[in-house]
Amino acid sequence: MTSYDFLVIGGGSAGFNAARVARSLGKRVAIVDGAKKLGGLCILQGCMPSKTLLWMTDVLHLAQKGKTFGLKIPHASADLRAMHARKRRIIAEFADYREQAMLSGKYDVYRAHARFIDAHTVALSDGKTLRAKKILIATGSKISSPPVPGLAETPFWTSDDILDLDHVPKSVIVLGGGIVACELAQFLNRIGTRVTLIQRSPNILRDHSPAASAVIQQAFRDEGIELHTDTQIEKIFSAKSGVTVHFRSGKKLISRRAQHLFNALGRSPNTAGLALENAGVRLAPDGRIRINRHQQTTAPHIYAGGDVCGPFDIVHLAVAQGELAARHAFGRPCKPIDDKLLVNVVFTDPPLATIGQTEAQLTAEKKPFLVASYPFNDHGKSILMDALYGYVKVIAAPKTGRILGAEIVGPQAGELIHCFSGPLAMKATVHDLLAAPWYHPTLAEILTYPLEEIADQL
Ligand SMILES: Cc1cc2nc3c(=O)[nH]c(=O)nc-3n(C[C@H](O)[C@H](O)[C@H](O)COP(=O)(O)OP(=O)(O)OC[C@H]3O[C@@H](n4cnc5c(N)ncnc54)[C@H](O)[C@@H]3O)c2cc1C
Repeated sequence: MTSYDFLVIGGGSAGFNAARVARSLGKRVAIVDGAKKLGGLCILQGCMPSKTLLWMTDVLHLAQKGKTFGLKIPHASADLRAMHARKRRIIAEFADYREQAMLSGKYDVYRAHARFIDAHTVALSDGKTLRAKKILIATGSKISSPPVPGLAETPFWTSDDILDLDHVPKSVIVLGGGIVACELAQFLNRIGTRVTLIQRSPNILRDHSPAASAVIQQAFRDEGIELHTDTQIEKIFSAKSGVTVHFRSGKKLISRRAQHLFNALGRSPNTAGLALENAGVRLAPDGRIRINRHQQTTAPHIYAGGDVCGPFDIVHLAVAQGELAARHAFGRPCKPIDDKLLVNVVFTDPPLATIGQTEAQLTAEKKPFLVASYPFNDHGKSILMDALYGYVKVIAAPKTGRILGAEIVGPQAGELIHCFSGPLAMKATVHDLLAAPWYHPTLAEILTYPLEEIADQL
């Protein structure tokens, strides 16, 4: 039996970065990963392929809007085979780079599935047994199929299938209104698929504010996506010709048919088969691995990081959690992740991004705050770009003016939100930000309007 200082189960964003840090601390490290291809979800079937495709459809959308800008761009359309080939080439490069890093000799890599025998020992699916002083569980998440009537009997696509399309499907019904559902629904619509999105909650992107969600909903409807919110699915069934979904919306019973069904109802933590009970690792009520602020599970020498423990499926969090776990495991100085600095980006067009605390959170916690917003349809740079959807919103503490959070829905929101990353981390106030230079004409200078409004209120 081989023994290690640190054993990482799952070599994705959380696992690989934990292994990298532990190795840099001079530890003997093993990574166990049972996937056919190394790289993890972000590189292979998550952020990078989806953002590669979305970037291509953003360009397509601009080309199709050429007339708005006085340009003649006839027949701009999606060539899915070429888009697919470009995506594959780019992803293969990212995956090769990660694979080389993993197989560089710094770590012992076992291509197998792991399950716990006891709190320090794991059995691998290839028959080997490994022991370790400290262990990180970073097994990610898997697509889930909630108990929707008829779903289990109906063939459906998942995000993996959408990301691997090499043709334009005629029509798709999207089930769900979360980030993945919305990003890929818009991708499908823009390549020329007829898209119907059916969401249970009153708003898509329900973890965001109703105001931000309303902007995306309007943009989707303007683009021709058929959106049904506040629904309840009665039955899904399939025939040779396609899929039919019966659902209720208020008192109305509605029926929609499409060639394909895209199940985007969510993901669940990948814990099945790990035999966590043998190691004393317990789950939280939501099915994720229970952790403390240092990523320790209920067995203190076993850590968890990434989607398997959450609380959010976001890559930079998975990386930070992995790094934190490795440093804490070997007694190095480390700070718990600051949930007041959470950044979230939805790569729809217009994109939606938030940082820090939201109005809803502060209201629920009965904490006073000041808030101001400004619309993109009244800002020079966005007007000349014809990017008129949305607004920027800044939230600050009364009296001190310390920035608490921001919400941006509009052009380049995913980039603009980072205007607040440094200031928030450095506990800056609206006065600090107003003392900074803002170039004209930029999208970023729109932020000065809500900042000034808050400064006036102080
Ligand atoms: C379509 C899509 C788009 C996304 N876009 C974004 C985005 O733009 N930005 C963002 O921040 N996040 C995005 N995400 C989420 C992001 O990809 C995940 O949060 C992140 O990749 C999770 O990393 P992880 O290390 O927890 O897990 P993973 O990267 O999934 O790694 C888990 C690894 O564990 C291995 N494994 C599982 N079980 C075992 C076992 N028993 N034994 C051995 N190995 C095992 C798996 O093979 C896998 O390699 C997206 C997700 C999806 C699906």
